[in-house]
Amino acid sequence: MALRVGPLRLNRLFSKCPPYLGVLSKNASSQSAPSSVPESPEHHLIYTREHFALKESLRKIIDQEINPHVDQWEAEGAFPAHKVFKTLGSAGFLGVSKPVEYGGLGLDFSYSVAVAEELGHIKCGGVPMAIGVQSDMATPALARFGSAELKEEFLRPTILGDKVACLGVSEAGAGSDVSSIKTKAVRKGDEFVINGGKLWTTNGVQADWMCLLANTSDGPPHRNKSLICLPMNLPGVHVARNIKKIGMWSSDTAEVFFDDVRVPCKNVIGQEGMGFTYQMLQFQEERLWAAANVLTTMDNIIQETIQYTRQRKIFQQPILYHQAVHFRLAELQTEVELLRALLFHAVALYIKGIDVTKLASMAKLKGGRLARELSDSCLQYWGGMGFTSDVAVSRFYRDGRLMSIGGGADEVMLGIICKYMDILPKK
Ligand SMILES: Cc1cc2nc3c(=O)[nH]c(=O)nc-3n(C[C@H](O)[C@H](O)[C@H](O)COP(=O)(O)OP(=O)(O)OC[C@H]3O[C@@H](n4cnc5c(N)ncnc54)[C@H](O)[C@@H]3O)c2cc1C
Repeated sequence: MALRVGPLRLNRLFSKCPPYLGVLSKNASSQSAPSSVPESPEHHLIYTREHFALKESLRKIIDQEINPHVDQWEAEGAFPAHKVFKTLGSAGFLGVSKPVEYGGLGLDFSYSVAVAEELGHIKCGGVPMAIGVQSDMATPALARFGSAELKEEFLRPTILGDKVACLGVSEAGAGSDVSSIKTKAVRKGDEFVINGGKLWTTNGVQADWMCLLANTSDGPPHRNKSLICLPMNLPGVHVARNIKKIGMWSSDTAEVFFDDVRVPCKNVIGQEGMGFTYQMLQFQEERLWAAANVLTTMDNIIQETIQYTRQRKIFQQPILYHQAVHFRLAELQTEVELLRALLFHAVALYIKGIDVTKLASMAKLKGGRLARELSDSCLQYWGGMGFTSDVAVSRFYRDGRLMSIGGGADEVMLGIICKYMDILPKK
């Protein structure tokens, strides 16, 4: 269904967005495009002409409105989320797979993956991550299970880029073990009174609302939680600080406290008590999104390393001509291709409605491991230049490190995979 709707919706997107489409200059997007990346439907297992058109249209925005400012945003430790999201939202990129009734494009999730891939061309990790939180991490449960009223109030403006969203799951005492969160929402009449706090909240400093996971009863940990749409301007919501980090500098990361925050009970997404399950479902899209996003960056880093090592000579020949170097780059590109195959296998099944928890966890695990391996190896071939903050490889070395921690650490992914393989020892 979504695929049939696709071209129509895309036509609407493109007619709404003339400055970017139609200016399909031949070289703007392809300068650093690696040859190994499929660039046409004939060479891709899933993507149609519309996926590629969508990517190309987004690339114009990235090249013209985002990349020229990235160095400044990284230096300042923040990017203007409202401005950037308005640009992306107006062009349709924040709700590609969200319902048409709420401003989305109504396409299937493979189009969100195409967008995530293209966002990997942004010259840092922080901005794409912030966009991903808005489009595919804080909103899937709301779009799927939320009431019409909640979708009108929170989903539509988020898709249009009028409101900035954040996701409040992790806490100071609970990251990997989501079931042990302590933030509590106690029912008083037709309101919940919320106390507790969240840590590591991406976009939290700038956000207008939070998709909050809180305990709404004293029942068993997988049945006592709810996802709640929480406006960030309510009395009692305190953004305590923007956490300083080794990477992802342009993305703000908040510590937030809730002190008797009153929110209407109708702000619960879907069924009360189902929050843990909804969040686990929401994680699937987050993990596929993250794998798609990091793939592009890895392709680009390999290409930039090839270019650099081809022109820089040591011992009378280009660095690239040393077998250890070109063999290693070939090995890494092979690993990237394996991840790409896994990702699109998972995406193809996901859009058919099949549970891909195992495959999504594998893709997230492999993406994190490979980001570390690849950024370390490539940085090495840049020598001293790799140790400066002026080159993309060093930024990726810092930013890419998060992939093995955020959204479920590698070990959490391994635990899930073990469960699906039925090899996790029973407690
Ligand atoms: C920059 C950044 C942005 C983030 N954005 C968000 C956000 O927007 N919203 C949000 O809710 N959260 C966010 N997070 C939180 C992130 O999801 C957590 O950091 C992550 O889940 C790990 O939790 P933790 O930091 O509490 O580590 P812990 O849970 O303390 O785990 C520490 C380490 O223990 C190891 N470990 C975990 N489980 C096992 C196991 N079963 N066996 C063996 N070892 C294990 C892993 O190596 C793990 O890294 C963000 C984090 C960062 C750093």
